[in-house]
Amino acid sequence: MPAIWDLPDFDAHEAVHVFEDRKSGLKAVIAVHSTHQGPAAGGTRFWHYGDSQAAITDALRLSRGMSYKNAMAGLPAGGGKAVILANPQRAKPQDMLDAFARAVDSLGGQYITAQDVGMSEADMVSLSKVTPHVAGLPHQGGDPGPYTARGVYLGVQAAAKHALGSDDMNGVHVAIQGVGSVGGGLARYLAAQGAKLTLADVDTKRAAELAAELGGVSVAADVIMDVEADIFSPCALGAILTASTVADLKVKAVAGGANNQLAIGPEGQMLADRGILYAPDYVINAGGIINVLRHVDNADDAEINRRIDAIPERLSAIWRESDSSGMTPAQVADNMAQKLIGR
Ligand code: NAD
Repeated sequence: MPAIWDLPDFDAHEAVHVFEDRKSGLKAVIAVHSTHQGPAAGGTRFWHYGDSQAAITDALRLSRGMSYKNAMAGLPAGGGKAVILANPQRAKPQDMLDAFARAVDSLGGQYITAQDVGMSEADMVSLSKVTPHVAGLPHQGGDPGPYTARGVYLGVQAAAKHALGSDDMNGVHVAIQGVGSVGGGLARYLAAQGAKLTLADVDTKRAAELAAELGGVSVAADVIMDVEADIFSPCALGAILTASTVADLKVKAVAGGANNQLAIGPEGQMLADRGILYAPDYVINAGGIINVLRHVDNADDAEINRRIDAIPERLSAIWRESDSSGMTPAQVADNMAQKLIGR
């Protein structure tokens, strides 16, 4: 295994902490990418990795993503991420959670954890009994979905303004992939403004019922990216923008809440080449983290709303810069984020 410095995802991370607690079986990595803007904040993932290098790589990659996301959201927080190497033969024992909480605590606030894949809200409450460096607790704001949905709605509206010439959503056709917490909330905002909706979900009943309620139509999940619409809004899985799906899109903009929408990266250029506006995912979907990290600087509801309301202007600034520089929106966003974190 190469040294951490030689891993492709190492990006001058400020620190990479490795923990092992033999008694409980805990093996964890906490990657602190940047504390330039404040304590490194990002979720803890509990996942069964093929090997320890895969776990370190995930922590490196995800922590850098959190630096960019938190910086572009205007938060007083840097980027970090923790991964716990799950043993598929064992559940998540309490003594392992306690050992992980002590690991977080040993960093003295350099890293603030929150929920991620494999970690529940109850797990966060459990960690908070050992360390104060836990965000997103039930009494601190609860479910991030509605906040993310509101930010995504504002971002979709900004995309309509930039790509279609008006932010009046009346009659604008939006195709939404995934109508769970984020996509469902987005659909409701759009319906209230008279948008025309085509909805899809692998849970076909969920999509059909929401479409009936909101006056839209539902289609099978495997054809939503072929729908001719004004805007495609991915709100389900990551990596859905591939060379082949981008080539088939029949929309003027892609703006949605899913994380890591570009499968490899060059798809951003492919979208630009096809004249399709792209809203960088970590900018448009920041509403949830904005609320989750509210206690970092004791932001009240008015401040949370102000930060979410800033999402469309941040997107517009990215698109203006993209138009004038010829760089893709994804490249512009990465450059802006790097500047904000002093890289
Ligand atoms: P969710 O589980 O509530 O909803 C996801 C929906 O997508 C479900 O209804 C599911 O059935 C559907 N789905 C899954 N695969 C699909 C497919 N192939 N085609 C169509 N539908 C499919 O999740 P969510 O909280 O709404 O999150 C949606 C996306 O947004 C995820 O990528 C998530 O990482 C991202 N995100 C969420 C938040 C948040 O605050 N919840 C914040 C930032 C980013």
